[in-house]
Amino acid sequence: MQQALSNITDPLPPPPQYTSKMNVNMNLNLNEPDEEVPVGDHIGLYELSIMMNKHAWALDEEDGDFEEAEREYMQAANLNNDYAMMNLAILHEKNDGDSETILMWYKRAIEVGQCVVSMYNLADYYQQIGDIQNMLHYYQMAADRGDSDSMRELALHYYNLGNHEEFRRYYTMAMRQPKFSMTRAIQQFNPFVVVKLMQSIILDPLVDHVFKEKMTTHLASIHTTYKPIIIYNNKIALFERLNHVIECGICYETRLNIDLACAHCVCTDCYTMLHKKPCPFCRL
Ligand SMILES: [Zn+2]
Ligand SMILES: [Zn+2]
Repeated sequence: MQQALSNITDPLPPPPQYTSKMNVNMNLNLNEPDEEVPVGDHIGLYELSIMMNKHAWALDEEDGDFEEAEREYMQAANLNNDYAMMNLAILHEKNDGDSETILMWYKRAIEVGQCVVSMYNLADYYQQIGDIQNMLHYYQMAADRGDSDSMRELALHYYNLGNHEEFRRYYTMAMRQPKFSMTRAIQQFNPFVVVKLMQSIILDPLVDHVFKEKMTTHLASIHTTYKPIIIYNNKIALFERLNHVIECGICYETRLNIDLACAHCVCTDCYTMLHKKPCPFCRL
């Protein structure tokens, strides 16, 4: 689940259009006059809903008061605040609420606000209940709106399925987004696979110059800061000096071998495939 409080720091969305002023007044008891509500008042109501959303969030997070938090979120949701709708879904999700209610609030939030955080969270919920088709649908919906987290999740899905082409497509798409976080993403994947992908992008004649430069900078930073890559490079340097060229026990090719944590040796390519996996010889 992503941050439920995003609207506190995000710029304000445009004030929603109310279809029924009656409903708004009845739910809020604001005793507003009967004439047309001027636009300024609409903005005022929306700001009120943001305050309610924040207050409800505090009631839940700080006091653990589910019922009061729900009541306050509902009031904000009645004012068309899509974050409050999303937070209602999250509130029910955290408290083992029923699927129908959770899905209803997420979908209403998306309908009203078209916000990628709601789409991401709904996709995440579908993943948890094992509905992969809907998970893909909502991650795709958020990805179509430029959400790099959803692109990364799609990349991860195809990566786990062994669909290398789709993994590359979504991961590249994610890396092109300005908000893409390399540190977070590299931990989800085999870093050697990511490095290989970045190297192939740099060598691709069809890729634009700006993106290539971005990849070069990222690569340089990975090589100097990311531990598994630093260790790998150090091992290669050491075993090259020892001229440790022998037959690899996995692929049977005679090439440079480097050691795993258990001291068994494999070739430099097979080493990258064993990232976070046990040694095939001793299972350590
Ligand atoms: Zn090998
Ligand atoms: Zn071993």
